[in-house]
Amino acid sequence: MKSVPESFGSLVFDLREMRARLSSQVFKSLENTIENGMKLDINVANSVANTMKEWAIEHGATHFTHWFQPLTGITAEKHESFIAPSPDGGVIMEFSGKELIKGEPDASSFPSGGLRATFEARGYTAWDPTSYAFIKDRTLYIPTAFCSYGGEALDKKTPLLRSMEALGREALRILRLFGNTDAKHVVTSVGAEQEYFLIDEELYIRRPDLIYTGRTLFGAMSPKGQELEDHYFGSIKPRVKAFMEDVDEELWKLGILAKTEHNEVAPAQHELAPIFTTTNRACDQNQLTMEMLQKIASRHGLVCLLHEKPFKGVNGSGKHNNWSIATDTGINLLSPGDTPYENAQFLLFLSAVIKAVDDYQDLLRLSVATAGNDHRLGANEAPPAIVSIFVGEELMEILDSIADDRPYKGHGKVQMMLGADVLPRFQKDTTDRNRTSPFAFTGNKFEFRMLGSSNSIACANIMLNSAVANSLRIFADRLEAAENFDAELRVLIRETIRKHRRIIFNGNGYDESWKSEAKRRGLLEMRTTPEAIVHLLDEKNVKMLTESGIYSLAELESRTEITLENYSRTVLIEAATMIDMARRMILPAVGHQLDLFLERLLRRKDTGTGSCSYEERLIEELTDAEERIDENARAMQAKIARIKAIGDKAAQATEIAEDLIPSMDRLREAADAAESLTSKEFWPLPSYGELMFSVR
Ligand code: ADP
Ligand code: MG
Repeated sequence: MKSVPESFGSLVFDLREMRARLSSQVFKSLENTIENGMKLDINVANSVANTMKEWAIEHGATHFTHWFQPLTGITAEKHESFIAPSPDGGVIMEFSGKELIKGEPDASSFPSGGLRATFEARGYTAWDPTSYAFIKDRTLYIPTAFCSYGGEALDKKTPLLRSMEALGREALRILRLFGNTDAKHVVTSVGAEQEYFLIDEELYIRRPDLIYTGRTLFGAMSPKGQELEDHYFGSIKPRVKAFMEDVDEELWKLGILAKTEHNEVAPAQHELAPIFTTTNRACDQNQLTMEMLQKIASRHGLVCLLHEKPFKGVNGSGKHNNWSIATDTGINLLSPGDTPYENAQFLLFLSAVIKAVDDYQDLLRLSVATAGNDHRLGANEAPPAIVSIFVGEELMEILDSIADDRPYKGHGKVQMMLGADVLPRFQKDTTDRNRTSPFAFTGNKFEFRMLGSSNSIACANIMLNSAVANSLRIFADRLEAAENFDAELRVLIRETIRKHRRIIFNGNGYDESWKSEAKRRGLLEMRTTPEAIVHLLDEKNVKMLTESGIYSLAELESRTEITLENYSRTVLIEAATMIDMARRMILPAVGHQLDLFLERLLRRKDTGTGSCSYEERLIEELTDAEERIDENARAMQAKIARIKAIGDKAAQATEIAEDLIPSMDRLREAADAAESLTSKEFWPLPSYGELMFSVR
């Protein structure tokens, strides 16, 4: 067996392969494209394509595919074989530069939100050389961007790349002002911690709700839930361990730095964290990780649930987006340095983030808005639907002293004026104690914790990068024009902290009192997707995102529409599934149980044996539940018909959130009450207890 370092990245056409296989001239040219975005010459592309193909064939590949991320949030691919006929009746294996660079998937059924009229239904995919090609299922996967013929982005990668570029450009301007002349690029990095549930496949296939919607739409709580918190970091069960080992091995081959695996708080919940990498690659790799988790689970007779809230009353799953900004020379700009000047630079970048998060709370919130995540934000053990920043006490004291223009006490030293003192190093353990903040500073990076477990991380990072790029642009404009840089810098930082201090909250975000406090501070609380997403088209947001070149207005409109549509479709499928399960599984089981009680009651009355109070009470309770199930199912059916006829997408989604979902909750409540009164023998669905505790 190969050692880990030998097999790591063995299925990736990474820099090692490129350097070893390409001529030095071609390699240089490609490197120039990867690092500086230079256009790729077709001769170079041909040469790269040919080498890539040979490498892929050596590794057993027969096909290639342009791999892209349409607005559905998952990945898409269309496979083509390398074969081309040869005159002698056989075939040769071919792959041209043109095929590498550009593809034309039949894209008419991908959502475009009105961007692409049907007469020009085709979009095209364009190679993204900054994310490596890899092999999976005997196919060469080429990461690509996906655009319409008019050039509008139809995917999540294109705006992500644009946002990284914008942030890099503005950050460099700042660095130059601080006298840094050697950094050539600034990039953002991300480490995305992924949470998921693992359940037994045998049980999964007996639950239509899991199959159709990824979450349980019914289910009474089991006697034991997560009260003991004995699962968190608990010893890993052998079957899960075998699964995790398999996952690590496959991810390593794909060049994904899977690092940490542990049990999470809820029973059957686990987490996987990779080592951070460039945002674009982190995004591709997270998509691949989610896919591999699901695929490998089935090899072990398990199902990996990536839904944000598979079980009611139990922690949901999120994704922590650890984010930092660094130069190509290896300087982390969110790390306080060793000298006063580096500190001032750190404080400026920190101010830029604080300003960005305050100015664009709405964009950050809506970047994680999905039907699934609506169950999680604000719910048990998850960040509230209010965006705020945690910086920790030590850093808060520094920021306060700057804002209020008073000496910094914490240090024992005197004046904590900018640049006049050396900041303490923020140890991870002093800043990481707060687990309830949606956006926490953790020593040298920020952890954005609002993402749902099934979200693509692209949207969150697009908004984060864009908003911070915007702060940096405003700062750079001002500082470049300043006569006295140091003086202006001081004023700028002080002003920014004063103005945006309201977004900083170091307390317990799960506390009810935080909601009213946040309201008093003027922070936004957007509880549902329809409530949040419409803000994408607010004037200030459109202005920032279009002027910085991240999105065109048409792209923003299309994204709003698609998000609303996705939301509505998701919930409508859930509602239809509930009605179906209620009628064809749950009501028959309840009927069966009732018959039994009724027979017994009649027999007892006939023979005059004992009191009948037990039977009578159960019959009453169960009949009540039965009636409510039927009533709510019928009400939902009428609502669905009415809602489907609403033409306006925003109005439709709002009706779903405000009218349909409460009905679904009522139906569920009645069904769950019935479950607790019905014999296990008749109940057609595996219970919560079975689902959460059966994997050994
Ligand atoms: P935890 O949050 O579980 O205590 P860590 O803070 O060590 O653990 O790491 C969490 C994630 O943050 C990992 O994916 C790690 O690679 C990532 N990470 C660490 N440093 C950085 C950084 N500078 N930029 C982006 N991500 C980082
Ligand atoms: Mg973490």
